Amino acid sequence: MKILVANLGSTSFKYRLFDMANERVLARGGVERIGSPQSRCFVESGGVREETTVEAKDHAVAVRLCLQQLADPKRACLKDPSELAAIGFKAVHAQGITGVQRVDERVLAAMEAYNDVAPAHNPPYVTAMRLLARELPQIPLVAAFETGFHETIDAAERLYAVPLEWVTQYGIQRWGFHGASHRYIAGRAAELLGNPAAKIISCHLGGSSSLCAIEAGKSRANSLGMSPQTGLPHNNRVGDFDPFALPALMRATGKTLEQLLDDLANRSGLLGLSGRSNDLRDIEEAAGNGDPVSKQALDVFVAAVRHYLGAYLLLLGGADAIVFTGGIGENSATIREAVCANLGWLGITLHHKLNAEAKGECRIHSFQSRVDLWIMPTNEELVVARQAKALLEAK
Ligand code: ADP
Repeated sequence: MKILVANLGSTSFKYRLFDMANERVLARGGVERIGSPQSRCFVESGGVREETTVEAKDHAVAVRLCLQQLADPKRACLKDPSELAAIGFKAVHAQGITGVQRVDERVLAAMEAYNDVAPAHNPPYVTAMRLLARELPQIPLVAAFETGFHETIDAAERLYAVPLEWVTQYGIQRWGFHGASHRYIAGRAAELLGNPAAKIISCHLGGSSSLCAIEAGKSRANSLGMSPQTGLPHNNRVGDFDPFALPALMRATGKTLEQLLDDLANRSGLLGLSGRSNDLRDIEEAAGNGDPVSKQALDVFVAAVRHYLGAYLLLLGGADAIVFTGGIGENSATIREAVCANLGWLGITLHHKLNAEAKGECRIHSFQSRVDLWIMPTNEELVVARQAKALLEAK
């Protein structure tokens, strides 16, 4: 069975093609600048990368082009486009729907209903999925929702203290996201520790960031809440914030609620705090050159990570492992160092040299640490491919 896992942007389509017999990636590629006469199409298979300029007026044209490339006999990734069993999507949020779903009008309408709850994610997905469902009806589309992994979170960690009917009638609660990444880390960490019952705190730190408390492979809490804007500060999304600041801001700035929500979703987080960049590398560099505002932005980010880390250590009653993943978690030795600072009294001790020199999947704790510290590159696409396969086989 061959499954293509798609990553959609408003003007981009990127994919990995999996052979599910051995979970091998046969090819990766995509199209960028969709809608322009100079779209850039790339494909990589068997260690060979090719790039071409094409005209892809929309996502359906882009997907067709990619499937043709994959079926080209010189690549032989697909015998023909119909060999594809499904396209899987790491979908974010839908009103009243979670888990793994065949994409149909009911799912699309539920996603569309939350366009303003997940403004960076839902609109491009809904538009592209609707187009693909219409233009390529022979290919099953499967949405694996990021919220699915967090269905096991207890009410104590899931509920906001709001009138109960907001939860029961309107679904206002901490849903949790980054499910594919945390599910992968849960499985991989249990495998490496040789302990399926392990207590793991997964720190996915990247363009968007969240911590997840995991026990015996199940999510027990996630720092993301009702929307992907909450929890830790993200690259340009706010993280935890008091809604009662909004009327004060509306009066002070003359902005509407929609304008302020747009600021919170696009000009806040690391970008807002640093006033410089949404990329941690730029902020680290400026802080290293003595810029106090950049240093402060890093401090806020680290304090937020430690806030949830502390909470999850209490929730789980300790941890067998703390895992760092995502672009920041995998690459920033400085952030890992700051997150783990002065935790020896909890039995958490980083090995400074291993941390500084870490590359790829590796352990970074010192020999006296009672808690394992690991870096694990996540593999969200593989999780989505497995979930899509399971759904197709269940039908
Ligand atoms: P996304 O959450 O969008 O999938 P990633 O997990 O790839 O993104 O994380 C992207 C972020 O990782 C970048 O914005 C940058 O802040 C950070 N990053 C990537 N490489 C490094 C690095 N070498 N050092 C520090 N931060 C890095």
